[in-house]
Amino acid sequence: MKQTYGYESFRPGQERLINAILSGKDAMGIMPTGAGKSICFQIPSLTFEGLTLVISPLVSLMLDQVLTLKEYGIRAAFLNSSLTPGQQRTVLGRAAGHAYQIMYVAPERLTSEAFRAFCNNYPIPFIAVDEAHCISQWGHAFRPDYLKIKPFIDSLPKHPVVGAYTATATVRVRQDIVESLGLRNPVIQVNSFDRPNLNFEVQNGDKQKRLIRFLKQHINDSGIVYCGTRKDVESLCEDLSQYGFSATRYHAGLPDKERTDNQNDFLFDRKKIMVATNAFGMGIDKSNVSFVVHYNMPKNIESYYQEAGRAGRDGSPADCLLLYSGQDVRLNEFLIKNSLEENTELSDEEREFRIQHELDLLRKMTFYATGNECLRVQILRYFGENSTPCGHCGNCRMSYETVDVSKEVRGILTAVRNLQNKRRSFGRLTLRDFFKGRKTQALAEKNLISAEGYGALSYLSAERILQILDWMTQNGWLRKTEGDYPVLISDDMAPDFGTSADEPIRARLPKEKETEEAFTVSKSELHQDDGSLFEALRRVRKQIADEQHVPAYVVFSDAVLREIAEVRPDSFEKFRAVKGVGQAKAVKYSGRFIVCIRDHKKRF
Ligand code: ADP
Ligand code: ZN
Repeated sequence: MKQTYGYESFRPGQERLINAILSGKDAMGIMPTGAGKSICFQIPSLTFEGLTLVISPLVSLMLDQVLTLKEYGIRAAFLNSSLTPGQQRTVLGRAAGHAYQIMYVAPERLTSEAFRAFCNNYPIPFIAVDEAHCISQWGHAFRPDYLKIKPFIDSLPKHPVVGAYTATATVRVRQDIVESLGLRNPVIQVNSFDRPNLNFEVQNGDKQKRLIRFLKQHINDSGIVYCGTRKDVESLCEDLSQYGFSATRYHAGLPDKERTDNQNDFLFDRKKIMVATNAFGMGIDKSNVSFVVHYNMPKNIESYYQEAGRAGRDGSPADCLLLYSGQDVRLNEFLIKNSLEENTELSDEEREFRIQHELDLLRKMTFYATGNECLRVQILRYFGENSTPCGHCGNCRMSYETVDVSKEVRGILTAVRNLQNKRRSFGRLTLRDFFKGRKTQALAEKNLISAEGYGALSYLSAERILQILDWMTQNGWLRKTEGDYPVLISDDMAPDFGTSADEPIRARLPKEKETEEAFTVSKSELHQDDGSLFEALRRVRKQIADEQHVPAYVVFSDAVLREIAEVRPDSFEKFRAVKGVGQAKAVKYSGRFIVCIRDHKKRF
């Protein structure tokens, strides 16, 4: 590890998983994205006789991993459908001539004649199954081809040692992996899912405005914006480009060529922002993604955490923002029901069970988006871990104040009940506009502008009115009805304010101003400390990357570059000693970076 990768020490769980494989035991590693699963199978592959196979679901992942490995001086290759038949034959021919230590293949490959013939005649000591949750129907990314892995393993002349690696959460999926791969009494390593360098935040309100403000605060950074639908990807990417942001897009409806080009623009830092559906990202291990914004709420916490976890893979601070609206819940409910109702392979009973299961996961996600408990605590609880409030997520940073809302609560209840007596009730946003006294078309059409109570809270911000309506709903003063168009009503269950009219009503509400400022401050740290040496090093890295036609982070990750900026090595030995610089990279690059550091010293 030191020699090749230049890492000082193992991260939690890595050594145990590596030792298991080296001693011939099957293993399963459950680690969150970014924890460092790759070296758990790469390092053993360097010591084995023969060829290690890494089975991985996405072609885009393979190219990237192989480029990275080659940079470390490891003999790696991939074999997939992006190569022509001729190229595939060449790769297999070279492999037979002992050219490689490690080879990435997609599961489809395991049934190809030529490939099987090769494997029957060449030693395969170790098979690593990456993204192993793809084997389970209970996972969120089931790939039927993964079921071909076990028969393939069983067909090999000599049974290899098998390792499975995933960032999956549920116990059910973990059991599925062990069974479906036929792991023999495996060593199982389950890591904490905490990613301390990620800052979580949820905002609601005008999504586009909030996104743009966020992006302006991240103007030097690279990041992903996830949208719920292809249509949203198209229009948002267009809008961002119009505002002058450097954005590109990705979704399953684009032609292959455009998808690949756009992905590369993002990987190679030609475009800063990737606007995409969740079709983008599995296996993308660009290490310098500084933020992930969800423009729509995903359908469960597991998907959310996996997507958000694509930020900050190199350990640098990164922001994960979820922009929430009630519409997202209804869209997800619709999608869940729709996709399962169309699935003819399930029995009625199975279908109903799955629908309930998924709606339940959606409810947990909605709690995350709307509650005020520490966001990190909620995520970790979902993954079965107990923790204490982190102190720096959006909810922890939000400070609350206790305010007297007697007048407002009474005013709202009177108006809502008056309307209700006329058999009229309205949703949360309509009520907000009504109390704020906005002159919208919708209010005019509903004849609300002349109704009693219109504009009664015009002295408050619209946001504040919503906070009070929500607080009243949480505390039973109002009730939100079920269905596609929920409305707020005051029913018999509501505390009777009439009898206790003198008692003040106090609510704990967020202090609006402070949250916004806190958010801005937390970001400015990022570029400050390394000053211009970091930028100078970045330029050198960019030059090298361009010359070699690899993404910049393949040369060095931001974290390593920051380390170099801090240590300021002025000799080969010192450069070699920097955390994250291996032997091969030190030999290749130390000269140019040392020159850059010396120049910088002279000038400042
Ligand atoms: P995963 O596959 O678990 O999502 P990766 O294997 O891609 O994560 O590793 C994430 C990042 O952490 C990579 O940039 C990798 O080089 C780095 N890394 C892995 N192991 C170590 C280690 N022991 N010390 C320092 N950095 C490491
Ligand atoms: Zn927190």
